[in-house]
Amino acid sequence: MRITLALLCALVGVSFGAPVALILDAPAPLPPAVASALYQEVDLAFRETGYSFSWKNRAEVKPEDSFPDLVVLRLKSECRMDAPAAAAPPGKLLALAWAHRSGDDVLPFIEVDCNRVRNMLRVIGHGHPAGVQHEMMGRALGRVVAHELYHVLTGVSEHSHAGIAQASLSASHLAGPALEFTPREVNLLSRRSFAARQTQQPSATFTADEIASESGR
Ligand SMILES: [Zn+2]
Repeated sequence: MRITLALLCALVGVSFGAPVALILDAPAPLPPAVASALYQEVDLAFRETGYSFSWKNRAEVKPEDSFPDLVVLRLKSECRMDAPAAAAPPGKLLALAWAHRSGDDVLPFIEVDCNRVRNMLRVIGHGHPAGVQHEMMGRALGRVVAHELYHVLTGVSEHSHAGIAQASLSASHLAGPALEFTPREVNLLSRRSFAARQTQQPSATFTADEIASESGR
């Protein structure tokens, strides 16, 4: 009966397992409007997959903390639209974010280059009030993070033909009104979240020390 109920909930996208802890390792605190838009966008992208997330700043993780499942998100440079402009090599397409890999395995460690995200948004965001720009930055970060979380949570390196999991996201993808996973990725994520909940054991936890070594500190 429990299995039947779990399967049903996975199929309709109801999240009831332990949330995946997202440990944010940023050089400076995110402006509240950026953080809020980032969290909302990730929740929105995964709303039908069975995954839920709890966010924690790296500095707040205590030695005694443990997490059944976690992903470390390191933000390179300041993730705000009003940070000083950074030079971008002309004509070069550089990754906005990437998940670390070991051989064929995708590791739960994501890096996001906020300078590159900001450079992508600069033209679209120009002239808008600071609040709108913060929201734009947070939403763009959420889509970039959701893309990498897809790789981490599924272990799949290949991309989709459309939506958040496509290989390359343009400025309009990052700043447009909506960008979602296609039904194919939602289906795969739903099956993975269901399988992950079945194998979660109390002993399968990550400690604060493991987070530190994962993020190279
Ligand atoms: Zn990718």
